[in-house]
Amino acid sequence: MPAPASSALRAGELFQVLRDGHARTRAELAEITGLARSTIATRIDALMACGLIGPAGEAVSSGGRPPSRFAFSASSRVVLAVDVGATHVLIALTDLGGRVLDESRAAIAVSVGPAAVLDLVVEQAKHLLERSGRDVRELAGIGIGLPGPVEHSTGRPANPPIMPGWDGFDVPARVQESFGMGGELDVLVDNDVNIMALGERAGFWPVEENLLFVKVATGIGAGIVGRGLLQRGADGTAGDIGHVRLARGDGVLCRCGNVGCLEALASGPAVAAALKAAGVRAESAEDVLDLVRHGSVEAVQAVRQAGRDIGEVLATCVNLLNPSVIVIGGGLSAAGEYLLAGVREVVYQRSLPLATARLRIVQSMAGDRAGVLGASRMIIDHVLSPDRIGALVADA
Ligand SMILES: [Zn+2]
Repeated sequence: MPAPASSALRAGELFQVLRDGHARTRAELAEITGLARSTIATRIDALMACGLIGPAGEAVSSGGRPPSRFAFSASSRVVLAVDVGATHVLIALTDLGGRVLDESRAAIAVSVGPAAVLDLVVEQAKHLLERSGRDVRELAGIGIGLPGPVEHSTGRPANPPIMPGWDGFDVPARVQESFGMGGELDVLVDNDVNIMALGERAGFWPVEENLLFVKVATGIGAGIVGRGLLQRGADGTAGDIGHVRLARGDGVLCRCGNVGCLEALASGPAVAAALKAAGVRAESAEDVLDLVRHGSVEAVQAVRQAGRDIGEVLATCVNLLNPSVIVIGGGLSAAGEYLLAGVREVVYQRSLPLATARLRIVQSMAGDRAGVLGASRMIIDHVLSPDRIGALVADA
């Protein structure tokens, strides 16, 4: 890392150097940042006072008293990460490094409305804290992913199609109130595909700056990470690729009211419907996966075709965004190589050679934990940002 030219590197910025978890001496930090050793010492003391860093043993001495090392104390506070799906919720308690300490699952339909779902989430969350022996005051924040469009700046869902009663609902206020806290408890909300993109990157592709996460489930959507940051677009709808029209879809009606949408051709239910129309017994995406596992030629071909359809839209995305990794996640991605083969076939054929020279197209490794890993990351990046840490240290 090059040394910053400015001597105005504050405690919050010095802390970013230590977030990688490696222990360093004052001398090493001075070398990395270009700051005077006395300045480093003052800032280390301030960060230690907040509990964000701690002593991490001693370095090898070149003679005399061995120098102390300091490292990020990831366990100093905890994060609650919530992934609300259409029919279930997954809640995880993580440390500030994103490591899952404990988790809990519950079955509840998002369609029962925000009050019932969030009450259950809060009840389970409090139980997780108690079971881990952590106090509410140790909570750094709560990250929540919802299965529909969300206005990220306010945490309110915006016209979500499968979530009656949620439109415009003040999710952060309800959660803060349930914890007996106000604005001092950070509650951030985003749509599930965006947080899955964050989670997959944080867990498995931390050095990739440009990543596209594609969820293939009941719906199809993408989360875009560009230059290391989630790209939500002007109104938060960036990555909504499910309703791009394909030529092959002529006459196929989509639930959005248009015809020929990618989602109407390649989502889990769409593949099941296509198989059923061809005389194969398939009612759901789970049935399709079962058929694939049992070697059904029709199911394998249908999944591969879904991959080609997705690939057709992704080829355009690749030319537009030039990602280095495309991660395919969501329920139908459990079909593994059959789906990926279809995606790769079309993307590599239709995209410009330079755009695919380094491009990898892979299956999600986070699996059904991508959402909670991302919800945790969303909070961590927020509360450990240079500005927030700077303010915290100044107040201490
Ligand atoms: Zn549509």
